[in-house]
Amino acid sequence: ARVVDADSSEEERRIEAALRPRRLTDFPGQQRVRDQLGLVLEAARRRQAPPDHVLLSGPPGLGKTTLAMIIAAELEQPIRITSGPAIQHAGDLAAVLSSMSEGEVLFLDEIHRMSRPAEEMLYLAMEDFRVDVIVGKGPGATAIPLELPPFTVVGATTRSGLLPAPLRDRFGFTGHLDFYSTEDLVKILTRNATLLEIEADPAGVEQIASRSRGTPRIANRLLRRVRDWAQVHGRHVVDLPAAEAALDLFDVDARGLDRLDRAVLEALCQRFGGGPVGLSTLAVAVGEEPDTVETVAEPFLVREGFMVRTPRGRAASPLAWQHLGLTPPQGSPG
Ligand code: ADP
Repeated sequence: ARVVDADSSEEERRIEAALRPRRLTDFPGQQRVRDQLGLVLEAARRRQAPPDHVLLSGPPGLGKTTLAMIIAAELEQPIRITSGPAIQHAGDLAAVLSSMSEGEVLFLDEIHRMSRPAEEMLYLAMEDFRVDVIVGKGPGATAIPLELPPFTVVGATTRSGLLPAPLRDRFGFTGHLDFYSTEDLVKILTRNATLLEIEADPAGVEQIASRSRGTPRIANRLLRRVRDWAQVHGRHVVDLPAAEAALDLFDVDARGLDRLDRAVLEALCQRFGGGPVGLSTLAVAVGEEPDTVETVAEPFLVREGFMVRTPRGRAASPLAWQHLGLTPPQGSPG
């Protein structure tokens, strides 16, 4: 697994659970979503009724699960957690829905990966608080409508574009999460260092934050690796030299690019004169599957302006040449 992967392993989820902010006021960054959500929740509190269903969209590791848990905490309600891939059959969803209690929060992670029949059941439940329970099989099967108490669905998706419009429309509020500024990541890391009893100085924290790709999950992971480095080297502080040495060891450069990201850019610049070059040719040059280059390296490189996608293939931007310390050939589009 890459140290800059924005997804987490099971094991890591356990570590993360201890670091999640519990209330909206403890959640740094995402000011807009926080203000909007604060309003929606406060209004619901005053009406003494569950709020509209909430959809949280944005790349992995930015705090969607954390916000879902905060929503439940702010409403002083329990939360039930499941995910699209875990609901393969409509019956799985029916079992969850029919046991919801009034006001409870149902968190559906990766909601875009739910099966179609489950999705259809969910529309009905979100809109009318009703679920049709199918009794029997084959031609004799009958649907028995079951009334549900009002509750709140919090859906999370990395790809809101993949949600069918009817499902998207059932959410009264959608919050779009964006990558964090270095400044906000510094706040998160400073708080987490305290929670983990890690002594960290501002320059060390800033260095970790600036290499974390705008993603708290990556920032938290890099903090743990720098802490490891400091401990093993008998230093007790996460400071600038420790951060630089540890992150260099893990191949995370000053802009958060890892070995694969740099290999892609180096191939683009040094083997293909900056491109454009087709994805599969580029992938062969770095010894990876085209899919890996496209889904693992490319999104970040494009987002940060190192690479551009053109109709004729991938090309290096002037920033890529500069970052690698290379000079683009005369007259190149780069
Ligand atoms: P997602 O569900 O979007 O993949 P998570 O909510 O699981 O992301 O967050 C990943 C990790 O990053 C968790 O450890 C979480 O505590 C931390 N995190 C995310 N956003 C914030 C934030 N704004 N403040 C503090 N920690 C955060």
